[in-house]
Amino acid sequence: MMIIVLSNRAAKLMRLCEIEGFDNVEEFLFDHLGESVCPAICMTEGCDYTAEMEPDQEQGYCEACGGNTVTSAMVLADLM
Ligand SMILES: [Zn+2]
Repeated sequence: MMIIVLSNRAAKLMRLCEIEGFDNVEEFLFDHLGESVCPAICMTEGCDYTAEMEPDQEQGYCEACGGNTVTSAMVLADLM
C-alpha cells in the first residue's frame, strides 16, 4: 500500500515537472524553492489538473475533478 502511494507521488511529480517544461526534477524544484507559490498537481488518477499553490499545500481544490486533491511539488518531493 505504502509503495503504491509513494510511486504515485513520484509519478505525479514527474508529470508536473514535464507539464512545467522541465526535464530534470531537481532543476524544477530548485527553480521554485523559497517562492510563496509553486506548481501543484491533482493526485487523482488520470487527472492532470495543475495550479499555483502554497508550497505546503496538499489538499488544494481541483477545478477539473472537484476533489481536494491538489498537492504542491514541494510536498510531493518531501521538501515541506
Ligand atoms: Zn483533479
